[in-house]
Amino acid sequence: MRILIIEDEKKLARALKESLEHEGFDVDVAHTGEEGFFLANERPCDLMILDIMLPGRDGIDVLSTLRKRDWRMPAIILTAKDTVEDRVLGLDCGADDYLVKPFATAELLARVRALLRRRGDERATTLNVTDLAMNLITRDVSRAGRSIELTAKEFELLEYLLRRQGTVVTREMLARDVWKVSVRAVPLDNVIDVHMARLRKKVDQGFAVPIIQTIRGVGFIARPPTP
Ligand code: CA
Repeated sequence: MRILIIEDEKKLARALKESLEHEGFDVDVAHTGEEGFFLANERPCDLMILDIMLPGRDGIDVLSTLRKRDWRMPAIILTAKDTVEDRVLGLDCGADDYLVKPFATAELLARVRALLRRRGDERATTLNVTDLAMNLITRDVSRAGRSIELTAKEFELLEYLLRRQGTVVTREMLARDVWKVSVRAVPLDNVIDVHMARLRKKVDQGFAVPIIQTIRGVGFIARPPTP
């Protein structure tokens, strides 16, 4: 398996290359965005690790251009500062995961392995409805670039809705698949409704058009706002 590293800090690039080679990967290194972009097109790789801050063409530009051209391999971005904007920007440009510098090599290797495990798996790594984005790896959720904090259950609920966007999800389905309860009990409906109300507040409050809607007497649906 081949990994492409695009990193202008030569010492860091060399250290990463050595660690990854030690794990049995073939590694290419580029020190500029332009060179990295060229290599990504020239030589197929299974995963890319790229720094955002690069001389000339930056990592965001390199990755978003590759994604627009249908480059589908997993990508991990390295960011110098841990700001929500940076993470959102990085994930919006098509990264699957990110690491904030300085990071432990063991952490990077774990992320690489996790992403490669998922490769070939047809499961989407991000789910989107218009300006709502859900990254299933980093578990970051944002709407219009604004980060949304969800509980584990709310995350599960939203994922369930987004995977079936445009189709109605019933309380029975939620009870069975999200709560893992096969026999439907009345009290569970209330639990579902309470969780759904909290989720909708987080996702839709402050936006003119809701993404999650109630279909009276049937259930819920996630769909793009109709103009
Ligand atoms: Ca850099």
